[in-house]
Amino acid sequence: MDQELKVHSDVICTFCGCLCDDIEVEVVDNRISKVKKACMIGRNKLMHAQSNNPDITIAGKPTSLDAAINEAVNILTNARFPLVYGLSSTTTEAQREMVEIAEILNATIDNPSSYCHGPGLMARQQVGLSSCTLGEVKNRADLVIFWGCNPLESHVRHLTRYSVSAKGMFHPEGRKSRKIVSIDIRPTPTTKSSDWFIQVTPGNTFEIATLLRALVANNPIGKGDDALIAGVAVSKWRELAEMIRGCKYGVIFFGLGVTQCRGRDINVEQLAVLVSEINNHTRFYAMAMRGHGNVAGGNQVMTWQTGFPLAVNFSRGYPRYNPGEFSVIGLLARKEVDAALIVATDPGAHLPADTGDHLKNIPVIYLEPHNNPTTEWATVVIPVAQAGVAASGTYYRMDNVPLRVKKIVDSDHLSDEEVLKRIKERITHAQNY
Ligand code: SF4
Repeated sequence: MDQELKVHSDVICTFCGCLCDDIEVEVVDNRISKVKKACMIGRNKLMHAQSNNPDITIAGKPTSLDAAINEAVNILTNARFPLVYGLSSTTTEAQREMVEIAEILNATIDNPSSYCHGPGLMARQQVGLSSCTLGEVKNRADLVIFWGCNPLESHVRHLTRYSVSAKGMFHPEGRKSRKIVSIDIRPTPTTKSSDWFIQVTPGNTFEIATLLRALVANNPIGKGDDALIAGVAVSKWRELAEMIRGCKYGVIFFGLGVTQCRGRDINVEQLAVLVSEINNHTRFYAMAMRGHGNVAGGNQVMTWQTGFPLAVNFSRGYPRYNPGEFSVIGLLARKEVDAALIVATDPGAHLPADTGDHLKNIPVIYLEPHNNPTTEWATVVIPVAQAGVAASGTYYRMDNVPLRVKKIVDSDHLSDEEVLKRIKERITHAQNY
């Protein structure tokens, strides 16, 4: 019998914040058989998207979808302090449902940005951030600074599609017409492929950004050129400041080496003010190297529905924002949460072990396309159709540009959005009767 071959072009890989949208996927008889143009990580994710799916279970025992949803509703409506957590690897449509569920439960809702790029979001609330799109970077940037990030290993195609060797409108020669600088505490593949690697001592991001503000503005700094700031001579920082002032269009991509080292949000605040002041001399922007596919969308959805990007509590009937108090790690470390609905993240793999352990002692409802460390102990496991493979929807790229991800195969399971809608409807029904 002839097999049915379908070739899908311009498929979006939803694994990392690059959201590469030029992937080609061949599907034979509803099975993904070939993936072209993706990096090794994206290719593996797509090739294995249809395998290793969990069963629908309650306490490890197979059950029906209806029974699993009823049990989920029972757990959530009987909890005194439930947590709704995740959002980062699903569509904005599903994220919207999660926020609504958190609101009707008077629950707390958080996403993984509270322990990755959350400090950058808090900095934006204080001082804003001059930012741009990846398309502008590709077409215009002649100076790219990677600060505390290693995209050659974390966002593999970032350099070829957007920031380094991409050929743009004003840079038809790609790599040859760009200067690449890396600031990091240790050599990485990205620092090795840069024109200039500035190796700094750990925990000094705030000092470096402060010094660069003074040097870019030609203000006196009260130190000689031989003095060391973050282990690097002032003369070198002066050289970097001159390079920044001399470029036509520059951008800083900052990673967890900036947001999660000593200083956290004030590091990003100082970096954002630096970028803003550089614009007195030339065009300059900054962008966070967002990790999971739609973690940026999670912040967008939470902000447009609650006013805040993360760590929101509804227990008083209106949204209250307080990172630390309402962040997932703090809530679990203090053992305040007595039930959790977790979607599109893997706390068993990502959270610190002693923090995540509290989740094993409370009822957890878990929506997830694949078996992973969390499916091993979650109380209610509901397999879902993977977004971007078996479900369509909207994802936000790291530059906050929304893209529509496609459904390229059929699945036996519902999408996150559909399961969450059913849970929401039954919670509303249970609360009314
Ligand atoms: S760089 Fe990221 S989005 Fe692009 S193919 Fe690789 S994993 Fe997927």
